Amino acid sequence: MTAANEVVYGHRMRRTRALFHIGSGSERRARTLARRSALWQQFVQSHGGPAQVEVEILERHRCPARARLREMELVRIHQPPTNRFGRASIPGAILAGRPKGSGKRCRCGSPDCYGTEAAQCVARAKQ
Ligand SMILES: [Zn+2]
Repeated sequence: MTAANEVVYGHRMRRTRALFHIGSGSERRARTLARRSALWQQFVQSHGGPAQVEVEILERHRCPARARLREMELVRIHQPPTNRFGRASIPGAILAGRPKGSGKRCRCGSPDCYGTEAAQCVARAKQ
């Protein structure tokens, strides 16, 4: 059984509290403030700097494709100002069950693998 190592996380500034960024990946990535987008860096610099950033783990998943899907769903709801991807609609590759950086549907083997669920949707649609 795979562990729930895939997280969906949010970043917020201590003072303003609203989520300004939502991401998914490893918990280590969630807590890393380096290698962020120019948009993220601009936002943080103009709101008090990295020392003011709080990291919140919003959800934990076993399936990386499901974590990615949930990231997009939460981006659409919260509209964090430093997320560009997924604000208006969920990209097709993510709906199709592909984890970040992969060209293939997830087959992680967890009971709630979103790749498997997405494959079943496609199969049903073709019947
Ligand atoms: Zn999976």
